[in-house]
Amino acid sequence: MNYLSTRGDATARKFCDILLEGLAPDGGLYLPQHYPQLDAAGLARLRQVWRDEGYAALAFEILSLYIDDIPADDLRQLCAKTYTPAVFGTRAITPLKKLEEGFYLEALSNGPTLAFKDMAMQLLGNLFEYELARKNGGQGAQLNILGATSGDTGSAAEYAMRGKRGIRVFMLSPHGRMSAFQQAQMFSLQDANIHNIAIEGVFDDCQDIVKAVSADLPFKRRYSIGTVNSINWARLLAQVVYYFAGWMQATQSEAQTVDFTVPSGNFGNICAGHVARMMGLPIRRLIVATNENDVLDEFFRTGLYRVRGSAETFETSSPSMDISKASNFERFVFDLLGRDAAATRALFGQTLAQQGQFDLSRHPRFAAAREQFGFASGKSTHADRLATIRSVHEQYGVLVDTHTADGVKVARQLAQKDTPMIVLETALPIKFAATIREALGRDPDRPAAFNGIENLPRRVRVMPADAQAIKAFIAQQCA
Ligand SMILES: *Cc1c(COP(=O)(O)O)cnc(C)c1O
Repeated sequence: MNYLSTRGDATARKFCDILLEGLAPDGGLYLPQHYPQLDAAGLARLRQVWRDEGYAALAFEILSLYIDDIPADDLRQLCAKTYTPAVFGTRAITPLKKLEEGFYLEALSNGPTLAFKDMAMQLLGNLFEYELARKNGGQGAQLNILGATSGDTGSAAEYAMRGKRGIRVFMLSPHGRMSAFQQAQMFSLQDANIHNIAIEGVFDDCQDIVKAVSADLPFKRRYSIGTVNSINWARLLAQVVYYFAGWMQATQSEAQTVDFTVPSGNFGNICAGHVARMMGLPIRRLIVATNENDVLDEFFRTGLYRVRGSAETFETSSPSMDISKASNFERFVFDLLGRDAAATRALFGQTLAQQGQFDLSRHPRFAAAREQFGFASGKSTHADRLATIRSVHEQYGVLVDTHTADGVKVARQLAQKDTPMIVLETALPIKFAATIREALGRDPDRPAAFNGIENLPRRVRVMPADAQAIKAFIAQQCA
């Protein structure tokens, strides 16, 4: 399998060439040259593998359709090492919870940091370590991951990369602005290769520092600076697997379709659903659920894609969906436009860059988003979240987190009788305890492994919002 850029860079690349990269050199995103196709017999075979050997074997089968530059035995081993009950809490890895007939939650958040990002990041950690060890004729190479986080991404990355050979993580977070639980999760890590840096500033300051350091190309090259953001193709590919596992749990035969509702921000999670559907997985609809930051809902309703300024980007009680633009969206638009790279480049490289928006409402392909690609969308607000958390708790005795509540709210609105609905559960309620208290007047249950983490010793360095100081610190750690 070769990979191409959504903006037309024609240099064919292999999976391992793009594994450690973010954007393609022309500013586009990487996609496979084609989506491998599964017919009913192929799906039945995968279902059998999943039944007999479990999630890790299913992951290997799907990944191997896209990765031909890692020997099959090694790839199988990497999947087996990643998707274990010890790391993900259950044998099923992503068990389906039935709320009522035909209405399910797929649990994706029983990994080490209790959010769905572990599903991909844990695999990424193992893939990075494997690939770095192979570099330089087997002598190995070093990668320094620099990131900015306001919560979920940073902790998922740190738990995936801790103790990994050849990898250091420098994670910037806004000093004193993450929830107590999120701070405790990250700062209690004592691994020598994990560096928590609390920046005296807000999240945007952290992101500006990452951009400034990455823009210094000599520094970037000298210290092998890399990232793990959600545009990474390997992260997206790892997420494709749980759409298959969800469908397999909700259906009996290859002819049955399901709907998925996905709490969405950067369009990474649901883009993996789009890839699964393009491969032939019988998904009828892919439903995008947004919070008050409704960039994506607006697009799927009207055809207008409008990036928000910071004054229009709201801080909500489902903070991991608080986005001003959706960084993976270009991948879908490329497919929507019939894989026309010149048209994609014109929209994202020119129109969006100059005008901050583009409008496909009158484009002949816009209707295909719904009709051919199965997309639908809806939006949820703080009041909806509170009401949904309460009613799901009352009706089913199940506690959902704020992001999952956005998904359930939209799924209830759009569910249709004849098709099973699967809502992706993207985090556990303990991560967002304040809103659970607001909804129910009590604290969410805490998984036993997290008792008392707020009292553990912390490993964090407070630093000013100054890119030079961060560069000096990285250089010193690499000396
Ligand atoms: C990251 C995240 C999301 C949004 O996922 P995208 O891939 O950015 O669309 C939703 N819920 C939670 C809990 C998350 O951490």
